[in-house]
Amino acid sequence: MPIYEYHCSQCEKDFELLVRSSTIIECPDCGNQELRKKLSTFAISSGTQSHASELCGSCGMTPGTCGFDA
Ligand SMILES: [Zn+2]
Repeated sequence: MPIYEYHCSQCEKDFELLVRSSTIIECPDCGNQELRKKLSTFAISSGTQSHASELCGSCGMTPGTCGFDA
């Protein structure tokens, strides 16, 4: 299950959220639903961890796994 990091622009809080299809994405502090999604901390598979230091400049994920890397 994907865990995403969000930043609330209203109360400046960063938090992680386990997102299911039915999940309503809102700030646990103030209930704001206009959140900025940060990079997924869970998207790097175990098979690519040896390259974890070479992160994609676009999204911070391992090159080749995010679609942004050329
Ligand atoms: Zn908030």
